[in-house]
Amino acid sequence: MEIFDTAVVGGGLAGLGVATLLRERGKNVVLFEKEDQPGGKVRSVREDGFVVELGPLGWLDREPVVSDLVAGLGLKPLIAKDVQKDRSLFKDGGLIALPSDGPSFLMSKVLPFHAKMRLAAELFIPARRHGEESVESFSTRRFGKHVANTLFGAMVSGIYGGDPQKLSVHAAFPLMAGWEFESGSCMRGALKHMRKKRRDIKQGRLKKTSGTLCSLAGGLGDFTDAAAQNLGANYRGGQALEAVTREGNFWEFHQAGAVVARAHHLVLATPARESARLLGAVGKELAQVAATIPGNNLCVVTGAWRRDQVQHELQSFGFIALRNHGFRPLGVQYASSIFPDQSPSDMVQLRVLIGGSFDPDVADLSDQELQAACFDPLHKLLGVQGDPERVWMRRVAGGIPQYTVGHLSRVAAFDAMEEKMPGLHFAGDSLHGVGVNAVLKRALVVADRLCASR
Ligand SMILES: Cc1cc2nc3c(=O)[nH]c(=O)nc-3n(C[C@H](O)[C@H](O)[C@H](O)COP(=O)(O)OP(=O)(O)OC[C@H]3O[C@@H](n4cnc5c(N)ncnc54)[C@H](O)[C@@H]3O)c2cc1C
Repeated sequence: MEIFDTAVVGGGLAGLGVATLLRERGKNVVLFEKEDQPGGKVRSVREDGFVVELGPLGWLDREPVVSDLVAGLGLKPLIAKDVQKDRSLFKDGGLIALPSDGPSFLMSKVLPFHAKMRLAAELFIPARRHGEESVESFSTRRFGKHVANTLFGAMVSGIYGGDPQKLSVHAAFPLMAGWEFESGSCMRGALKHMRKKRRDIKQGRLKKTSGTLCSLAGGLGDFTDAAAQNLGANYRGGQALEAVTREGNFWEFHQAGAVVARAHHLVLATPARESARLLGAVGKELAQVAATIPGNNLCVVTGAWRRDQVQHELQSFGFIALRNHGFRPLGVQYASSIFPDQSPSDMVQLRVLIGGSFDPDVADLSDQELQAACFDPLHKLLGVQGDPERVWMRRVAGGIPQYTVGHLSRVAAFDAMEEKMPGLHFAGDSLHGVGVNAVLKRALVVADRLCASR
């Protein structure tokens, strides 16, 4: 029987992140992943000069742990072109550039004058410091209906593909909720936060980060492939675990009715429902909690056209579409403008995201219908002519977990289980944050805690 210091279940970014950090610190760690390919939601297709991301597109350089992990695996970040800073909004049937700083905000058409005034009045709105609140209620209360529908609507759509009425601001945007709590105003809190960050960097307490969008030459799959490879024989791909039990001082791992390994520590980096299922009788109370963390169906549909087939210059990141403004997909990213090295120079790569809370039926569309829903509106909007030369698509069932109001109490139930069961740790995007940065930041918390516990 093989005995490990730590066993990680789930070979997405979270699990691979924890395992890599533990290995760097000399721990004997094994990772079980059910699919043949590592990466989970990360899926980078490389073919004929294209790198096509069918999961996350990249990460913003804001969390030192991400660049440390990338460097530790011998990889070099691919920095997005400056155009990625320019983003637009699809609103009232057309594209409006989103302002990138204060002066351009004042001139921008994204909000009418009265809404800009209401936004400025946020400084004087009394703070509310109790209970979880929906993003819609919070943003309307603090910034007014217009800003709530437009800017917060776009943010929720862009990050969660979610419904602002259902998402918890405290769980989905904790920084913002914290600014109100601590400083009485989000704007005051944000300014204080920026000043403190600058001070910490100057005094060497914090690493300087650029905030720019990054990927890797072969896409994010370079990271997950390298992390799996780095684990050598202790990366066990294509091995779905059936159950995990606690026997004496060990966690035991079951596959095909037999115990295949033992470990002192267990990191469950699987979706919350799967984590609860794996824990069997121990996780019974968690199963009910996990069932109330919904996941959105999301599809990525990417097309490649010859440059001469597209009239629009595409000199930006792309756009997010406000709901009910006449554009079905959640948004379009101009992938070949953001990372030009990931497409042949005479081709244009457009990545369309569709689905989310307001469009659950997307899962029922045929490939042809999905392609039409994503590409047909681009003909008029971006001057796209004719069919794409290539198409890639991926349906990600339950793609983005939704942190609905009440999420904090769900996380507390998982925290309590960690306290109760020795050596148990939860990671992954079901609980502590969605996205590359959030799951790797949590991976660091888990690795630190695990190393400190002995
Ligand atoms: C379409 C899409 C686009 C996105 N775009 C971005 C973006 O641009 N930037 C960004 O920061 N974030 C983005 N995200 C979010 C980001 O991809 C995720 O938050 C992150 O990848 C989650 O990683 P994870 O390891 O927590 O989960 P997962 O990737 O879901 O990994 C969980 C793993 O557990 C495995 N598993 C499950 N059950 C078992 C079992 N019984 N035994 C063994 N293994 C098991 C699964 O196979 C899977 O590999 C996007 C997500 C989607 C879906």
